[in-house]
Amino acid sequence: MNCDRRQMIGSLAALALSACGPKTNNENSGPGTPTSTMKQEPFGKLQDGTAVNLYTLTNAKGVTMTVTNYGGRITSLKVPDKSGKMEDIVLGFDNLDGYLAENPYFGALIGRYGNRIGGAQFKLDGKVYHLAKNDGPNSLHGGIKGFDKVFWAGSDVSAKDAQALSLRYVSNDGEEGYPGTLTSMVTYTLTSNNELKIEYVATTTADTVLNLTNHSYWNLAGAGSGDILKHQMTIEASKFTPVDKTLIPTGKLENVEGTPFDFRKATAIGERIEKDDQQLKYGKGYDHNYCIDGADGSLKRCAQVTDPSTGRSMEILTTQPGVQFYTGNFLDGTIKGKGGKVYGHRGAFCMETQHYPDSPNKPEFPTTVLKPGQEYRQTTVYRFTTG
Ligand code: BGC
Repeated sequence: MNCDRRQMIGSLAALALSACGPKTNNENSGPGTPTSTMKQEPFGKLQDGTAVNLYTLTNAKGVTMTVTNYGGRITSLKVPDKSGKMEDIVLGFDNLDGYLAENPYFGALIGRYGNRIGGAQFKLDGKVYHLAKNDGPNSLHGGIKGFDKVFWAGSDVSAKDAQALSLRYVSNDGEEGYPGTLTSMVTYTLTSNNELKIEYVATTTADTVLNLTNHSYWNLAGAGSGDILKHQMTIEASKFTPVDKTLIPTGKLENVEGTPFDFRKATAIGERIEKDDQQLKYGKGYDHNYCIDGADGSLKRCAQVTDPSTGRSMEILTTQPGVQFYTGNFLDGTIKGKGGKVYGHRGAFCMETQHYPDSPNKPEFPTTVLKPGQEYRQTTVYRFTTG
């Protein structure tokens, strides 16, 4: 924080609000007014009595995002359509109880290993590690109590031009079967350019594997407004990782050319989703990892999704080599979300930026091993515009 610049504001009141001084909640707030601190309010208690918060991040354009530190879940994100109308575009619940009940990772941070590990085990430094089989024979999204179900310590790390929430979680050595004590820090920033930036940093005390992501379910026409089959999708990937019937990659990288997986040109999500294709059958739709073209660890654009009816568009940039495109194939209308809205079949899509699934068992894939002394760093940006 640049205190000199802030002091030039010249008003004592402004100084009192400055992040250079002690932070208080909800100062100087009003719709669309960026503040140096974000709103923070109670969101309920976990079974063990731990109090959970709901944080509200706001930018100068009136975009708002709420996040709870239970599972680091994004509970709402309201962005404008082409006529300026704000709508909540992520699936979720009105209260903590919704998140505590069974649900498919709405808005959640996923760890330690996002996506699947085949046979729920992997070998590292000659030792076999056994994980929970929570998805048929495989381990999915970190096991029984993954990072989506833990309490993250939240701190307001807002700057003058962007509100930001930092979440920290220490996962003990052996937790969910993974080696090493892992310290993870995830920062959500809402920029003045209508971007949600997610930065992941982690360190370990022993060799381990790691694949962090966020599992938000998006519907750019508004959460609970119907299916996403007319959304236009572009994915900058010439290859994807085909899977077996349990959704574990075969190890091959297959060309998308000439298949329903080719989204290099904007195509409606629903255009080929029912095609007679073995991979689509295995996924019950799209539930596949794409290998992002030119991925080299720098922040690169990997996808763009547009809802033609509202003009809302989301561009995705990431430092990761892959992105799981999932079309909400397991949503079946049994979950009622915010405002009592029903989340029907394919009522949302996920774009989980990540390393490839089952990398710990696929030496030919980019490595997910993290060693003591190394720092895991990944960034993903979701940028919202209107067409
Ligand atoms: C997986 C899906 C799964 C969903 C919710 C996605 O990341 O690929 O198969 O159903 O998460 O659990």
